[in-house]
Amino acid sequence: MSADAELTGLSLIGGQPGDRHDESFRAYHPTDGRGLDPFYFSASDFEVDEAVKIAAAAAPVLAASSGAERTVLLRAMADGVDAAADALVERAHLETALPRPRLTGEVARTSNQLRLFATVVAEGSWVMARIDTADSGRTPPKPDIRSMLRPLGPVAVFGASNFPIAFSVAGGDTASALAAGNPVIVKAHPAHPGTSELAGRVLTRAIESCGFPAGTFSLLFDAGTRVGSALVRHPLMRAVGFTGSFKGGRALMDLAASRAQPIPVYAEMGSANPVFILPRALRERGESLAAGLHASFTLGAGQFCTKPGLVFLDTPEAPFLAKLRSLTANDPGFALLSSAIAKTFGKGLQERSVLQTAEGQRQGAGFAAHAALQETDYAAFAVSPALHQELFGPSTLLITNTNREQMFAAARALEGHLTATILGTEEDLREYAELISILETKVGRVIFNGFPTGVEVTHAMVHGGPYPATSDGRSTSVGSQAILRFARPVCYQNLPQDALPAELKDDNPRKILRLWNGAWQTP
Ligand code: NAP
Repeated sequence: MSADAELTGLSLIGGQPGDRHDESFRAYHPTDGRGLDPFYFSASDFEVDEAVKIAAAAAPVLAASSGAERTVLLRAMADGVDAAADALVERAHLETALPRPRLTGEVARTSNQLRLFATVVAEGSWVMARIDTADSGRTPPKPDIRSMLRPLGPVAVFGASNFPIAFSVAGGDTASALAAGNPVIVKAHPAHPGTSELAGRVLTRAIESCGFPAGTFSLLFDAGTRVGSALVRHPLMRAVGFTGSFKGGRALMDLAASRAQPIPVYAEMGSANPVFILPRALRERGESLAAGLHASFTLGAGQFCTKPGLVFLDTPEAPFLAKLRSLTANDPGFALLSSAIAKTFGKGLQERSVLQTAEGQRQGAGFAAHAALQETDYAAFAVSPALHQELFGPSTLLITNTNREQMFAAARALEGHLTATILGTEEDLREYAELISILETKVGRVIFNGFPTGVEVTHAMVHGGPYPATSDGRSTSVGSQAILRFARPVCYQNLPQDALPAELKDDNPRKILRLWNGAWQTP
């Protein structure tokens, strides 16, 4: 039986199917716009409440689980994702039109992410245990003080449209929240409900087979904002993970802040990912920079949060411009992820008062778009705030005639972004060293001689950045540090050894790295 034939269109509430309701929606195939079966039923208010209540009931069980137990769960989830790879790729291809090789890569990224967090919690030092022992001889006597990170409770995750597997139901937010010991309720993105259902079933099976409570995970469908808003408003929810538009992220931040008990929202929103091309590099390897830039801004039809959308350079050399324009003009058409994204992209291109110097083809009946190269100069850019914003899709904006001082001024005027890239020779970089110190205050990742698309999932990665790139610039949504978003420090003062969490007992039974009276101690 094909994976599609197995799809039910129903939410998964702690592993149990939700009901069929009046409100329903379906996914669309982006290349021809045809509706895909089955219809998906939006969760009712009762089902949202039920999912949150069972999550809240599961929260203490997860919080009491050991790192070793959660490692087993995360590994079972990873194995399940790998085993479902073919079905996930086929359905995601239908719902997003993203190429199969890209989606196959996303499956591997998803299971690797789950395994990365499994390794992090197996090792255990992520809890940042600190121990300051008592000193009864001091006046006044110093108490015994110990602290570590503990989970928050039920976390709402909003799946991203542009990473239907790796940043959706079984993606980074879910993996990091579960790893920290929190139950998760995912609000599926309505553009890929079938992929979401398949991934949701994988997670549910792993939870059942590892003996975790059913409330550990639920998956809710909706094609509007009712379910997501109800989740964030629910008094038993404790945190939110989101990837999407600035408008959506900001709405959820405001909703969370207006609760009687506000909760943290980790929203990864828009970013235009500025690129600075320095003069020697432009002269010496203009054509190869043009090829790299073109590949980066059209990757995934330009629907990457790290797409380079603003490119600052001085007077461009002819080979660079000629190459970039010709590559763009020869681009085949693209199918964007949703009709809303295609509409916003088309409108955004038209509304910008800049020159469109190259335009690719536009093919297909669905959510079709053409690649676009737009150009303006620094003087015009500096007085046009609208040009500074992200435009999601296969386009980039060259800002020419930007001299050294203007590059510094442009960098200082930036809002928060996820990344900033410097393309230059080492001599260039010495001359423009100030750029690095400005950019590190504006972004989460500074890149030298590379392109911002492509985000490694590692321990040191930072995929974040000051507002408005994210809701909280102290965090990352990619890499093992993402786990820190879903935990908070708890201090235990004068507790007897028996009552302390294992991580804080004198004999260090978990064998983790700890700060003991101010000195780091390895087990
Ligand atoms: P979106 O419109 O922000 O939606 C993301 C998710 O959040 C969806 O599940 C959506 O639900 C939900 N949502 C949005 N506003 C909400 C609200 N006020 N209350 C409750 N839930 C809400 O993002 P998208 O559909 O993925 O793409 C739209 C635009 O987002 C793109 O054109 C692009 O500009 C931006 N985007 C940015 C990134 C990035 O990484 N920077 C990634 C993807 C998209 P419903 O759809 O059911 O309403």
